[in-house]
Amino acid sequence: MHEVVVVGGGLAGLTAACRLVQRGRDVVVLEAQDRVGGRTSAEAVHGASVDVGGQWIGPGQRRMVALAVELDLPTFPTFDTGRKVLDLAGTVTTYAGSIPSLPPHQLAVLQATIWRIDSMAAKIPAANPWDSPHARAWDRRTLAGWMAASIPSRTVRDVMRAAIRVIFGAEPEELSLLHALWYIGQGGGILSLAEIRGAAQDSRFVDGAHAVAIALARRLGERVRLAEPVGEVIEEDGGVRVVTAQGDHRAARAIIAVPPHMAVRMHFSPALPPERDALMQRMPMGATVKFHALYDRPFWRDADLSGEMVCTHGPVSVVFDNTSADGAHAALVGFCVGAAARRMGSLSPDDQQAAVTEVLVRGFGPRAQAMAGFLAKDWAADPWARGCPTAGMPAGVMSIYGPALRRPCGRVHWCGTETALEWTGYMEGAVESGERAADEVFALLA
Ligand SMILES: Cc1cc2nc3c(=O)[nH]c(=O)nc-3n(C[C@H](O)[C@H](O)[C@H](O)COP(=O)(O)OP(=O)(O)OC[C@H]3O[C@@H](n4cnc5c(N)ncnc54)[C@H](O)[C@@H]3O)c2cc1C
Repeated sequence: MHEVVVVGGGLAGLTAACRLVQRGRDVVVLEAQDRVGGRTSAEAVHGASVDVGGQWIGPGQRRMVALAVELDLPTFPTFDTGRKVLDLAGTVTTYAGSIPSLPPHQLAVLQATIWRIDSMAAKIPAANPWDSPHARAWDRRTLAGWMAASIPSRTVRDVMRAAIRVIFGAEPEELSLLHALWYIGQGGGILSLAEIRGAAQDSRFVDGAHAVAIALARRLGERVRLAEPVGEVIEEDGGVRVVTAQGDHRAARAIIAVPPHMAVRMHFSPALPPERDALMQRMPMGATVKFHALYDRPFWRDADLSGEMVCTHGPVSVVFDNTSADGAHAALVGFCVGAAARRMGSLSPDDQQAAVTEVLVRGFGPRAQAMAGFLAKDWAADPWARGCPTAGMPAGVMSIYGPALRRPCGRVHWCGTETALEWTGYMEGAVESGERAADEVFALLA
């Protein structure tokens, strides 16, 4: 019998467990896979270890910044020197700084759109967005509907769509306006989510972001049980019994640190309140294929290109320089998202590489053809994530079922980045939610 059983060994679950152990509590973490880290993960390609999942942190993400120091995991700035590439439906231009190469009237519309989104987002409280004055009206609309009605330029709509796709892994049609604004507000506004310097893509971990989860798990030692997928969570005899193929784990309380669409696959007894179950049925994951293209050298830098590319159409939405900190492994990293990710996921690895190569050649020239290695991970096909980077809410979900997001159900508590109050969807949000869940449970333990 433990005091707390944590289901899920991603950053949220590991954080919750570490915080409780630090306070002298007896905890076990049950992780389905044979590794910790969940949506952070590393794989090898052409002699390099690359982050196939979450990788960047920014200065506004104080918990991740503090963890990097505490765990002695150095970070380094994302490379962003040089001109950026904008591919507007096949027309390629380059620009310096953060103002895209658009005609002045379109730039004005873009600025106004960013300002409007940010000021609407600022009106939404992080903890109870369903209580904000416009909650019902904004939740009735999709983000796409709002964009169609409010952005009087097709090109600017296309640029915004590319940004939204990458942020959510979803098409604007798939997202409630209320949820999208809430999410954007939590991350400090649209530029804070989309940009590199001073923003969400500011820095990378020298040894990869997956090293954070590994270091946290090391602190927990044998308390972390790998390859133990949880099938049932049963509340009985004044505690919980959590059932895996390896056996039962009993505890006073359970923290479920898996995303809602994975939690709904577990059997809960007694049955969860209807609104909690309904919420979990209605929070689909985004679709993202993340790829790495390895080269013998970062040839784009020779042409004063930063490696950043935004595409409004086609299979790839955004590309960044992802060369290793020591410069030994030159790489471009990119994302196929939303509808394009679903199409990319159905292709063979060779066809995926060919589709990506065509885009990179358009942006960076013929040398992009000479890849030394290529690796693509389709997160929708990952059985323990079924998509990424985060779960969204379609229209009509947040204002009706949102209040069930963090509300405990008896002895069952919820965490995971989707429940965060700051930087939801990000590693920072995962850590914040783990801290909150640990505090919630700690306060209730005898
Ligand atoms: C391609 C990609 C790029 C991203 N880029 C960034 C980025 O640059 N910066 C950033 O901050 N964030 C990024 N993210 C998001 C970030 O990785 C996540 O927000 C964060 O890792 C989520 O952590 P979590 O603990 O909430 O959930 P998860 O990492 O999903 O952890 C849940 C864990 O529960 C386990 N599990 C599921 N079901 C069960 C079960 N039945 N029994 C037991 N265990 C179970 C899973 O195996 C998993 O380990 C990215 C994500 C992806 C995939």
